[in-house]
Amino acid sequence: MWLWGSTAAGLVEKKKVVVIGGGVGGSLLAYHIQSFADVVLIDEKEYFEITWASLRAVVEPSFAVRSVINHGDYLSNVKIVVSTAVSITDTEVVTAGGQTFVYDYVVVATGHVESVPKSRTERLSQYEKDFEKVKSANSVLIVGGGPTGVELAGEIAVDFPDKKVILVHRGPKLLEFVGSRASQIALDWLTSKKVEVILNQSVTLNTISDGLIETSSGETIDTDCHFMCTGKAMASSWLRETILKDSLDGRGRLMVDENLRVRGFKNVFAIGDITDIPIKQGYLAQRHALVTAKNLKKLMMGRNKGTMATYKLGYPIALVSLGRREGVAHFPFLTMSGRIPGWIKSRDLFVGKTRKQLGLKPTVT
Ligand SMILES: Cc1cc2nc3c(=O)[nH]c(=O)nc-3n(C[C@H](O)[C@H](O)[C@H](O)COP(=O)(O)OP(=O)(O)OC[C@H]3O[C@@H](n4cnc5c(N)ncnc54)[C@H](O)[C@@H]3O)c2cc1C
Repeated sequence: MWLWGSTAAGLVEKKKVVVIGGGVGGSLLAYHIQSFADVVLIDEKEYFEITWASLRAVVEPSFAVRSVINHGDYLSNVKIVVSTAVSITDTEVVTAGGQTFVYDYVVVATGHVESVPKSRTERLSQYEKDFEKVKSANSVLIVGGGPTGVELAGEIAVDFPDKKVILVHRGPKLLEFVGSRASQIALDWLTSKKVEVILNQSVTLNTISDGLIETSSGETIDTDCHFMCTGKAMASSWLRETILKDSLDGRGRLMVDENLRVRGFKNVFAIGDITDIPIKQGYLAQRHALVTAKNLKKLMMGRNKGTMATYKLGYPIALVSLGRREGVAHFPFLTMSGRIPGWIKSRDLFVGKTRKQLGLKPTVT
C-alpha cells in the first residue's frame, strides 16, 4: 500500500503494523491506525466482543446481537486473520496456520486466556444455550465474586427472581479490588435479592459438575447449572519461546515503558491486560490503544522519543451493574449506589457508546 508523502518521488510506503489480539484494546487500535498504516489484525476469533455486555446476554441473548461484532464490520482497511499467533521473530509474526506476516511495528494485545467460539454465529448460539440453561434450572451456582460474578448474579436475580442463586467466593469480601463500602453495598444488594453469598470458600475447578458439589469447607451445594467467573491466566505462554521471552515478568505480563513499548524494544508495543500495568480494566485497555495509536503515528512521521505520548496511571474507578436498573460506583473519594450508577451503566452497558467508538451505529437494523 502507498501513502502520499513528501519524498522526492511523492509517495512513501505505508508501514506494516501487526496487531495481535482483537479484543478491547487491539480492535480499537486497529480501527484508529487503519487510515495511515498497513495493518494486519490477528485474532483467534472473527469478532470483537464488548465484554461488559456479555453477562446481560446470558439472560437476554438478543442483547449480544449488538455487542458481538464481526471485525470486518468496523475494520474496512485492515487485513483480518482469524488464527492464533504462535511466534514473533525480529521481523515477522507466525500464526498457527503457518502464515507469516512481516512487520515494521507489532502490538501485542492478547489479554487473558479465554475459551470462546471462533465464529459470531456460534457465540450467539452459545448465549441462547446459556439462557435455556438458566431458564430450565432451579438453582444456579456462580463461582467467583469479582465484578463478573457479582454482575452475573445480579442479572439472574433480577430477571429470574424465582431461581435460587448461590455465589461462592474464595475471598473475605466481594469485589476485592474495589473499596470496602462498595463490597458491602454489593453484598447487601445481592442478599436483598435472595442470592446466597458464601465467602471464604472455594470450589475445586476440576471436579465441578452440575448436581451436588462440595466447597473447600465441606459444605454441599445442590445446583442445576454453574458459571465460572474466576480469574484467568495471561494469554502469554506462547511468548516464552519468542524474542519477547525476557520481557515477561514473573506473572507472565509484558513489561512496558511509559510509551507502552515493550522494554528493550523500539518497535514492539503491548496494550491492555497483557501488560504489567497494575489495573486490568477495559476502559484502560482502550486508553492504551489510543496512546499507542498516537505513538505509532509519531514514529511513522519520524518524530523522536521526546514527543511521544505517555501513559499515566490514573486512580482506579469501578462501575458495577446490579441488575438492569441499579449499580455501585467506586471513585477515588466517593462510592455511590442505586439508580444513578444504574442509569449510567446498567441500562445499555455502554454498548451504544462502544459501538460508536468503532465508527458503528449504536443500534443494528
Ligand atoms: C465478563 C466481563 C465483564 C467485564 N466488564 C468490564 C467493565 O464493566 N468495565 C471494564 O472496564 N472492564 C471490564 N472487563 C474487563 C475487560 O474486558 C478487560 O480489561 C479487557 O477486555 C482487556 O482488553 P485486552 O484488549 O487487553 O484483552 P481482551 O479484550 O481479552 O482481548 C484479547 C484478544 O486476544 C485474542 N488472543 C489471545 N491470544 C491470542 C493469540 N495467541 N493469537 C491471536 N489472538 C489471541 C483473544 O481471542 C481476544 O480477542 C470485563 C471482563 C469480562 C470478562
